[in-house]
Amino acid sequence: MQDDKLRAFQERLKILRRKYPDYGYFFDFYGTVILTRINFSQRPEIESVAIEEEMVKLKLNDGFPLIETEAFQIDTKHAQALFFALCRELIKERNEVKPKIEVIESYFQSHPEKLKEIFADFLKEEKLKDIENIDLDINLLQFLVFHSLKPSLKESAQAVKSKLENSNWTKGYCPVCGHHPYMAALRENGKKYVKCSFCGHEWSIERILCPFCDNKDHEQLRYIKADGEEGYRVYLCDKCKRYLKTVDERTIENVVDLDMEDVATLHLDIIAEKEGYRKG
Ligand SMILES: [Zn+2]
Ligand SMILES: [Zn+2]
Repeated sequence: MQDDKLRAFQERLKILRRKYPDYGYFFDFYGTVILTRINFSQRPEIESVAIEEEMVKLKLNDGFPLIETEAFQIDTKHAQALFFALCRELIKERNEVKPKIEVIESYFQSHPEKLKEIFADFLKEEKLKDIENIDLDINLLQFLVFHSLKPSLKESAQAVKSKLENSNWTKGYCPVCGHHPYMAALRENGKKYVKCSFCGHEWSIERILCPFCDNKDHEQLRYIKADGEEGYRVYLCDKCKRYLKTVDERTIENVVDLDMEDVATLHLDIIAEKEGYRKG
């Protein structure tokens, strides 16, 4: 890709840091996470997820996603290696979180089996529990675990993608895993695509639709944008009070992927939250 687009991403973060100095920490922290993940060269190895054709039809017709969260496969070795790579990079780059991450890193270096258990709990969507006798930041741990698992989740979703080719899925939740999107893009064909917050699958939905509550009422859906930023919009739903950031790929050059765009639009999250809306 990637070099031009990576450079464009870093360039944009620099500009945003200057424009929104108060949020510099967020751009730096999430920027480090995304770049570490993208630069991590290994790919996870996932066995194919078996679902019979008949089951695929039934599920999709009835509006059920193809895979339950717990049935996602993960490449544990890959996720572990990425987990420690994220720890290392964040310790190197970010003084603010360094002591917290050092505690996490050293605990799991000496308890690798515990990390495997935590990966499994994450798939069961169980909130991570405190670990006995260790004072570590559970939210930060949960965040690192999710980002370590993301490539495996994405690979599992890819493995079933072909089964969705002839489906007309336009619901607000993901046809692969059932989770809601976290970002949207308007593409050349004029369609709106959304990206799943859990497995990274992308699918298209109606342009006037809140994916979180199915609201299609024009009067309750509007958008805001930041000054001077054509191409980036935040769609707000007045029915459920949630928002979805949207990148117009016809206007914005060098959109590399929506994970990066999510970080490059963190200021829009802050604006939307100040207006009383929350992320979907
Ligand atoms: Zn999904
Ligand atoms: Zn809504």
